[in-house]
Formats: sequence, structure tokens, C-alpha cells
Amino acid sequence: MPCAYHTDRAAVGACSCGRSLCEQCVNLLDPPTCKTCAKKYIGKETADLVKTCLIGAALFVVGLVLGMHNGAGSGISTGIILMAIPFGWRVGAILPLFIFGTNPAAVVVVGIIKLSLAIIIGVPSLLIYTIKTIIRIGRLRGVVNAVK
Ligand SMILES: [Zn+2]
Ligand SMILES: [Zn+2]
Repeated sequence: MPCAYHTDRAAVGACSCGRSLCEQCVNLLDPPTCKTCAKKYIGKETADLVKTCLIGAALFVVGLVLGMHNGAGSGISTGIILMAIPFGWRVGAILPLFIFGTNPAAVVVVGIIKLSLAIIIGVPSLLIYTIKTIIRIGRLRGVVNAVK
């Protein structure tokens, strides 16, 4: 079977969508990704990143307003913490809210632990997510540009 993009070359692998890919195309990205899927992923990752930035910016403004009465420094740090909480919360999904049962007291305790964890790991995970997504979009663009 020939490569979906280079009909003169034999396919050595395939994208998850089933398109066959030649050696050059297979080596562009791990796992092997065809140009069509790379374009699709770029759209999805970009939309995700934009959405995250918008939500983050909105939460930052809320935190800024809430913390501002204690000075600009407090406003900025409250803004950063609020902005990062959704990220930390997502990472904290490993700790289920009902881990100690549905007893309201237990749920409140677990909720407080989760929120504290979210605040602590939120900022680094937000940074890691942003950097990883930008690198991934760059790699996907590489596939789109390499395959004529
Ligand atoms: Zn594909
Ligand atoms: Zn190819």
C-alpha cells in the first residue's frame, strides 16, 4: 500500500485514523499522525488554549478585584491563585470527592483538602499545560508543513 501523501513510496505505518504513511511521514511525530489529523488537532488544541486563557484571565480579574483592598501585591497574588485553581482541581481529580463516603462532614474535609491542593499545584500545572500545548501545536504544525 502506498503512503497517503507520497504515492510513490510504500507505507510502513499508519495514523490512528487509518491513513497509511511512508517512513518519512511516520517519523514526523510520535505517535504517527497524518496531515489531516494534525490540522484537526491544531484546531482543537488552539481552541482549548484560547478557552483556558480566557477563563484564566476572567478569574485573574476577579481575584485582582477581591484582593485589591489589601494592596496591589495582594490583588495580583489572589488573581494568580484564582486563575490556577481550575488547573489544580483537574490534576486533583485523582482524589475523588466521595473517597470517604457521602457523609457531609467527610465531603467538606475532602473538598477543603482538594481546594488546598488545587491552589498549591495550580500555578505549576497551569504553566506546564501552557508550555506543553504550545510545544505540541508547534510539532503538529511541523507535520502540516513537512507534508506537501
Ligand atoms: Zn490521521
Ligand atoms: Zn509520506
